[in-house]
Amino acid sequence: MKIVDEYFGCDVFSTSAMQRYLPHAVYKQMMDVMEKGKELPKEIADVVANAMKDWAMDKGATHYTHWFQPMTGITAEKHDAFINPTGPTSVISDFRGKELIKGEPDASSFPSGGLRATFEARGYTAWDPTSLAFVKEKTLYIPTLFCSYDGSALDKKTPLLRSNDALNKAAVRLLNIMGYNIHKIKTTVGPEQEYFLIDEEMFKERLDLLVTGRTLFGAAPVKGQELDDHYFGSLSERVKAYMEEVDEELWKLGVYAKTEHKEVAPCQFELAPVFTSTNIANDQNQLTMEVLQKVASHHGLVCLLHEKPFDGVNGSGKHNNWSFCTEEGENILEPGDSPKDNIRFLTVLAAIIKGVDEYQDLLRISVASAGNDHRLGADEAPPAIISIYLGEELTAILEAIEAGNEYVDTIDRRLELGVSTLPPIAKDSTDRNRTSPFAFTGNKFEFRMLGSNLNISCPNTILNTIVAEELTQFADELECVKKEDMTKALIALIQKTLKNHKRIIFSGNGYSDDWKNEAQKRGLLELKTTADALPHYTDPKNLQLFEKHNVYSASELHARESILLTNYYQVVQIEAKTMAYMLRKQILPAIFSYEAKLAQIIQTKKSSGIDAPLEVKILKNINTPLELVSNHLDTLETLIHKETTTEKQAACFAANELLPLMETIRQLTDLIETNVSKEDWPLPDYNDILFKSML
Ligand code: ADP
Ligand code: MG
Repeated sequence: MKIVDEYFGCDVFSTSAMQRYLPHAVYKQMMDVMEKGKELPKEIADVVANAMKDWAMDKGATHYTHWFQPMTGITAEKHDAFINPTGPTSVISDFRGKELIKGEPDASSFPSGGLRATFEARGYTAWDPTSLAFVKEKTLYIPTLFCSYDGSALDKKTPLLRSNDALNKAAVRLLNIMGYNIHKIKTTVGPEQEYFLIDEEMFKERLDLLVTGRTLFGAAPVKGQELDDHYFGSLSERVKAYMEEVDEELWKLGVYAKTEHKEVAPCQFELAPVFTSTNIANDQNQLTMEVLQKVASHHGLVCLLHEKPFDGVNGSGKHNNWSFCTEEGENILEPGDSPKDNIRFLTVLAAIIKGVDEYQDLLRISVASAGNDHRLGADEAPPAIISIYLGEELTAILEAIEAGNEYVDTIDRRLELGVSTLPPIAKDSTDRNRTSPFAFTGNKFEFRMLGSNLNISCPNTILNTIVAEELTQFADELECVKKEDMTKALIALIQKTLKNHKRIIFSGNGYSDDWKNEAQKRGLLELKTTADALPHYTDPKNLQLFEKHNVYSASELHARESILLTNYYQVVQIEAKTMAYMLRKQILPAIFSYEAKLAQIIQTKKSSGIDAPLEVKILKNINTPLELVSNHLDTLETLIHKETTTEKQAACFAANELLPLMETIRQLTDLIETNVSKEDWPLPDYNDILFKSML
């Protein structure tokens, strides 16, 4: 058996590989770039490139690729060989600094939302030395950023790095004003990844799964998740073998895959890594999704990352655990034991509460997609309303501070405002509320609205930016406060913030209808669909926020809104076309042949003088919904090609016309499915997929 610590990270150009392949002076310069955020000295680029190539070739690599994350959400790569011609028939393996630092993929087909005019179709990739290069399938992968000629970000990573800078700047400034000697902070993320595994043969037989990632038809299975017997259940041999291979692949790539277990739904699983810096966590989550999918094929399985592959069965999310810490690794969201640390914690907490309240729209947008809309608010994932859960004790402490009251904790420790007796905040008191979209879980926030398929850069970009904004506002307010008055000023600031923003704090059941009514009373936003949410991206307050912190320029933000709106419409349109195709080519013909069989029996019985009431009843049960399906299908086929004038209009049309009609068609078809023989039904049904997949 292989021992993990002997091969963990062996395919990564890690700091220890750098130490071995780089001259010592250059190694130290690289560490300054990676750890202190210094600029890469131009003169070392050739040396680093050469060392990287030697290391990669020692690992069997023949090619290199600039690996980037365009606005499609997936990762992109174009492979070049490490060879340069030296004569008509000879080559030398070569890789220069300029090739490492900058690439020019012919990337004109990536969406740019108008940022890249066709006459300047080139995009440029720029090496991101703060993430780690790695070797996979004989290729050296170099993490890069992707931008246009004028430097506009054409990818998801650039804004994320900018937002890290913004938060660093704001947090360091505020913490120093508060009297802490802190030079740098970094954000950390641990994304818990949910997914489904199903049998590859059944997958291939369903065009809806192949094309759209979700089932557009399918009557409910005989057993759902009512017995709660899948969650944390023991793993079958097949799944165990799969997970072992996934772990090994990920560990080689330096991904800290740690926890794996069965999730709530049949065939559903989760993989949680150990958290790391946001930039690396982002790249590693992309790699994790890729490895989950690739390894599945070795086991005759398919890994579904769609947010809602099966109707009526829990969908898959991704919990984004987020915090920030100092250079030395001290977690700023760790409530300390001493009153001094608690005032720091409570101040940052107040800033986060304010940010989440003021930018509910952005947080909702950051998780908006056609797939995720099927989860949010569907009794399995947080609703489309943003709120914060803090746990009982923390809520009580904040209430006491706001009211200016004495707080007495469960072991009779007293909190008197302004004096040095803020109580220690017990970690376990942040009890688990699974229904909250944004929950404090002891020393980090868990943002639970993300869909399983999402690239985590956008939610983290937004989290970082809104918190940067609030910390900046706090710093502005506290800048002139004298040292001896600081605690008083901080408590007053926390009080004021809570008074104005406590509506966002909610501890109850986020899945209940009562909460929807209550949230409305509190004036919280409920942006039900992606089409409702996205147009708020470019609201003046949001444009201002991103420009102020240099995260998105106005044109970069408009581009994202436009790309996401278009993508949403296109996804729904493709689903509608797939639905129409499957009905015309597979489902209707199958129903007709079953009807013909029934009609034949009725005929035969009648000619023998026997009544056939049962067959007639079933035929009617099929025929009534069938006529409706047929009419709705005609309408759907017309709507699919309906012209819309703006992207926003198209998205609203998809949300308000196409999707509801598709839902109606689906329900009628599922009803017919329950009346048709299994032999005649042309698709693997939910029972097959969910209960035979793991055999
Ligand atoms: P669970 O939520 O399943 O009980 P944990 O709370 O231990 O498990 O952690 C869940 C995820 O949160 C893990 O990926 C973990 O690495 C991550 N995490 C823990 N601490 C932090 C932190 N300070 N910053 C970001 N993520 C963190
Ligand atoms: Mg968790």
